Parts: sequence; structure tokens; C-alpha cells
Amino acid sequence: MRIIMLGAPGAGKGTQALLLSKKFNIPQISTGDIFRMHIKNKTELGKKAKEYMDKGLLVPDDLVVEIVKNRLIEEDCKNGFILDGFPRTIPQAEELDKALEEMGIKLDKAINVNVPDDNIIVRMAGRRVCKKCGASYHIKYNKPSQEGICDECGSNLVQRDDDKEETVKKRLNVYHEQTRPLIEYYEKMGILLTVDGVGDVDEINNRIQKALEVNK
Ligand code: AMP
Repeated sequence: MRIIMLGAPGAGKGTQALLLSKKFNIPQISTGDIFRMHIKNKTELGKKAKEYMDKGLLVPDDLVVEIVKNRLIEEDCKNGFILDGFPRTIPQAEELDKALEEMGIKLDKAINVNVPDDNIIVRMAGRRVCKKCGASYHIKYNKPSQEGICDECGSNLVQRDDDKEETVKKRLNVYHEQTRPLIEYYEKMGILLTVDGVGDVDEINNRIQKALEVNK
């Protein structure tokens, strides 16, 4: 399976991507996580990306595209992958198409996790992420077994700097202007599945699995 996840920031696409990645045993590739890792390791790329991320803006296409291209040729992507947070602009989608064509492969599905803006703002305020492995939780809707501690790796959970309310609003604007047009892009390609993203994590996961089953 070669899947991309679409949806506004905070729509829960990362959480769903992780579940699908476990189910299909394929890697989840989150460009946001890759950038956060670079920031943590204080690399040149991390420094550049942080300038944009802290403002709620998108990192320039050329930087993102290179990272993804290099990642997709790794061995563990042979049987498939889930792109989470990429592509986020039409030029990124076009570059991805070109790269996949050169590799002789195609995307199977683009899963659009659909959540209204009002819900997103509430969700982002309660989102907590693991500093170490990037797993994502919600203080109300997707609680870890032990408060403040990651179920996956036992590290501390924190609020992301760019999940603060003002930045969230900016990120939503950026989503509507630059990322939402991708829904039509993949619809035209005939691989779009839109799933209602309101509800609890398992419920949404079931909807996604059903949609994949029905649209094989
Ligand atoms: P995410 O964890 O997917 O919400 O990404 C966090 C931030 O990383 C975004 O707000 C962007 O600043 C940056 N970012 C992640 N993926 C991309 C992408 N495909 N294109 C541009 N910027 C990105």
C-alpha cells in the first residue's frame, strides 16, 4: 500500500497514519517529525525549517521534496509507505508524482481526514506529543494510559510550540490556501477517499479501514 494522508493540521492524520502503518507493516513518513528531529539535532536544515515552523508557515517546497525523495528510496519503503503531512502544496504533489514515476510506482490512495475548523482549534489546544518518538495524544480524546507519559516509549509528553492558539489559526489559513487544493488534485486522479474525522480514534480508524476495503 502506498498511501498519503490529507487533512488540516490537528485533524488526526498522524494518529491514523501510525495505526495504518502498524496494520500494513509499512513506514509512516511524517515530514513534520523529520523537521522536528533536525531541529532537535540542531542541523542546518533544522535551523532553516524552524524559522518557518515557528511562524506557522510551510517550509519551502524544495527543502521538503528532497527529504521525501531520499526517504522513499530507502529499503523499508519497498512494500509501501504512508506519507503523513506531505504533500502540502500542489508543486509538492507534482514533484512526488514525478519521483514515483521515475521509481516505476504509483500511489494507491489519498485519505482525506475531514474535520471542521472549529473542532480543530479545540483539538490542537489539547494535543500532546512525545518528545522522543513523536507519538500524538489528546488530553481528552486520546489519553495515554498514564498522564503525561508516552505509551509507545515512556518519554514525557509536551505541547508543540506551533500548537499554541495563534499559530494554529495561522496554520489553518495556510492549510486552506495551500493544502486544501490537493483534495481536488487527488480526486481528479481517482484515488481520493474522504473520511469523516470527527469522533474517537478507533471509530475513525474503522471508517478508514472500511473505506479502504470497499474501494480496493
Ligand atoms: P506537521 O507535524 O505535519 O503538522 O508539520 C509541522 C510543520 O512542519 C508545518 O506547520 C510546516 O511548517 C512544516 N512542514 C511539515 N511538512 C511540510 C510540508 N510537506 N511542506 C512544508 N512544510 C511542512
